[in-house]
Amino acid sequence: MKKILMTPGPTMIPEDVLLEMAEPIIHHRTKEFQEVLKDVEEGLKYVFQTKNPVFIFASSGTGGMEACVCNVLSSTDRALVIVAGKFGERWLELCKAYKVPCEVLDIPEGDAPDPEDIRKILQKEKINAVFSTLCETSSGVVSDIEAIGKICKEYETMLIIDAISGLCADPFFMDDWNVDVCVSGSQKGLMMPPGLSFVAVSKKALDESEKKSDLPKYYFSFKKANKALEKTDTPFTPAISLIKGLSVALERIKKEGLPNVIERHNKLAQATRASISALGLSLFAKRPSNALTSVRIPEGIEVSKLYNRMRDIYGVNIAKGQGELEDKIFRIAHLGYVEIFDIITTISALEMTLSDLGFSINFGDGVSEVEKAFKR
Ligand SMILES: *Cc1c(COP(=O)(O)O)cnc(C)c1O
Repeated sequence: MKKILMTPGPTMIPEDVLLEMAEPIIHHRTKEFQEVLKDVEEGLKYVFQTKNPVFIFASSGTGGMEACVCNVLSSTDRALVIVAGKFGERWLELCKAYKVPCEVLDIPEGDAPDPEDIRKILQKEKINAVFSTLCETSSGVVSDIEAIGKICKEYETMLIIDAISGLCADPFFMDDWNVDVCVSGSQKGLMMPPGLSFVAVSKKALDESEKKSDLPKYYFSFKKANKALEKTDTPFTPAISLIKGLSVALERIKKEGLPNVIERHNKLAQATRASISALGLSLFAKRPSNALTSVRIPEGIEVSKLYNRMRDIYGVNIAKGQGELEDKIFRIAHLGYVEIFDIITTISALEMTLSDLGFSINFGDGVSEVEKAFKR
């Protein structure tokens, strides 16, 4: 059976990236690897839209999130964490693990934070850093980081963004939007296997980490990473093969052009949403991300049955909900190495699965919307 992976991480990987990673290993303290690292650093700056250094860690995305918390904050600081789903919650858990006092702005899942609510909290309290999420992958919502950035700048509060699933799918401009620290990971929009996290760090956040931060850290130290990066080097053995693969993936993004990559994701998202509505299903996210589409499960159907059947019978791996949403929504990602025919396949498999499970649909109603949206 031919299989496709339509999940919000890991995502599918282009053949040239896979082949690059299959090459014999090279040593990292060589000119050859330095050239790769230099290219990758440039490519990462381009996708983050920043002039800041971008540190590369061998970890999943969460490792990069942990690096943000333990480098930028101090034990006497106070953080504001915006929680609109599972990944906002992860910021909160990380702050708690490092015993950083937190203010929490809790938002119902499916909603996006209202930037004015953040202003109200910053007006009242001394907050050192605001933690938010570009695309909250558990609900499929994209936040207005540009507006949040303006407010944080007004109050001279650092802004730390999890753009792990949003990067390359939703518009994001680290420098123009006043973001101090931004984290992403390899297995999402960057079309790579899991295993790398990336953290872009502003001058202000780097100063904070080098001069003030007293939280414990070793491997994830920004100071160590920065010192090495200034010499186009890494403090420890880097994930050499992954970084070589990343250079090919970033080359693809540069060639397509970041604005075109984001426009492609936008088109895929619009086509997916149109087809879902045409099938009589309802969309979950109020401010939907380009990275994935979250769909309410219709009455009488179990998410796990739909999910298992789509994967096992039709070869299309989508995602269930997470946490409290596990059996309430399903999620179709259109993230990374995805084109319109992957969406057609997915919607076709969804139509057949819904029909198998006794939900009334007309075959082709969803698929034809994908084609129409694509031709629009
Ligand atoms: C995937 C993801 C993460 C990180 O997950 P890992 O499993 O640690 O790579 C964090 N935040 C968001 C928004 C994500 O989508």
